[in-house]
Order: sequence, then structure tokens, then C-alpha cells
Amino acid sequence: EPGLYIVATPIGNLGDVTKRAVDILSACDLIACEDTRVTGKLLNLIGVKKPMRRYDDHASEEARERLLAEMGEKAVVLVSDAGTPLISDPGYRLVRSARERGIAVTSLPGPSALVVALTLAGLPTDRFLFAGFLPAKDKARGDALIELAAMPFTLVFYETGPRLVDSLQAMARIMPGREIAVARELTKLHEECRTGTADDLAAHYTAHPPKGEIVLLAGPPPAAEAPGEADVDAALRAALETMS
Ligand code: SAM
Repeated sequence: EPGLYIVATPIGNLGDVTKRAVDILSACDLIACEDTRVTGKLLNLIGVKKPMRRYDDHASEEARERLLAEMGEKAVVLVSDAGTPLISDPGYRLVRSARERGIAVTSLPGPSALVVALTLAGLPTDRFLFAGFLPAKDKARGDALIELAAMPFTLVFYETGPRLVDSLQAMARIMPGREIAVARELTKLHEECRTGTADDLAAHYTAHPPKGEIVLLAGPPPAAEAPGEADVDAALRAALETMS
């Protein structure tokens, strides 16, 4: 069927490629990707040979229009280098334009580092805020953290090794007392998830500079924690007393 297919791919472990992903990659007419070398490797591993074309949201208007025009008669797949497209990855503009033109858009779910990290860290998951990458510059990073510090949610960031310690130190300063988690190399051989205070983790990663890909999480501010069972019981008793 012609249209746009958003396809999630593994974030490190090839075993996580879904059957639907293999099926659509095998059946499609064209694969739009961030980097034809990276996607070429994945296609090799699953034994698929298809035309690929580089696409990102900074592509020229003409390049996007050409791709959209082709969706009229071709099945076009969008993948990113790893994980779910559009999640800190290109695709948003393409999906938006496709929808505006009435092109069929389908999304095939699969791995995303943000979800893997959340399910691993042991922090509250009922309400969370995914904030992508923090700004690289100190002032902008601090401002971003100040804006987020008051929100009663678990915060999730994508992070890089060289910037991790700076971010942890900024968190120690701006949102002290929160439970922090660093999830690294998810689904890979050296997967690690370390929890503690921002200060302790900053000290650890100063001594052991982190390699590989990282998700950084902060639990909600202490006051925002969901009421425990004891609190609910106490509130109920108090309410009953006022009624009698
Ligand atoms: N679209 C991807 C997804 O759904 O997870 C994310 C793309 S973003 C450009 C890349 C960032 O995702 C990395 O810098 C890192 O923060 C995170 N990431 C990707 N794979 C990861 C992994 N295996 N372990 C930890 N973090 C990962």
C-alpha cells in the first residue's frame, strides 16, 4: 500500500527488530533514513536490499516535497539511525506534511531508549516529562533545568558521555535532593543503570568517564510524590471524622 510508514529499529540489540519492521522493510519501495551507511548495515543484517535516500527535517523543501509526491504511489519507510523516528530524531515535519496532504501514515512501534530507561530506573512512571537533550551551554542548560525543576514529574533526558558530569553537577545545584538515574548502553552488552544523588553520580562518572549512549533521569521533586497508602488512610479517617 502506498503511504508513509514510520518504523522503529533496535537501539543496540538486533534481536529487538520486530517482525513487522522486517516485513515492511522487505516490502517497501523506498527507505528514507538519516544516514544510508547506518541503515545499510541494518538492512544487510536482516537480508534486505532496497533503495535508500537520506532525509532529515533540515532537508530542503524540494527534497521533502519530492518524497511526499512519491508517497502517492510508493510505500515509503522512514527510519532513524536507532530507535523510534521523531523521538529526538527527524520525521516530525514529514509526518505533518503527509497528514496535511491526506497521505496514509502508519507507525510500527518498537524500541525507544526513553521507554527502556523509564522501565529500568525504578523511578515513578505514572507521570513523566521527556525533555530531549539539555542545551550544551552552561547558562542555557541551567535555565532549562530551572524551568523543569518545579514540575511534579519524573524527568527524562537524552545525554552524551562528555556532557554527563556537567549535567549532573547542574542538577545537584538546581534540583537538589532528587533521585537521579543514569541508564547507559541499553540493550547492549554493557548495559548499566546506576541510581543515586546527582552529587554521588557526578563523583562516580568523574572517576569513570562514561562511554556510550546515555539516558539521564530525575525523580519528581520530593513534595510531588504520590501520597502513600498511609497518607490515604489518614485522609480517609479524617474525612470520616468530620462527617460523623
Ligand atoms: N530515536 C531514538 C530513540 O527512540 O531512542 C533516540 C535518538 S537520539 C538522536 C540518540 C540518543 O538516544 C542518545 O544520545 C542517547 O541519549 C539515547 N540512546 C539511544 N540508544 C541508547 C542506548 N542503547 N542506551 C542509552 N541511551 C540511548
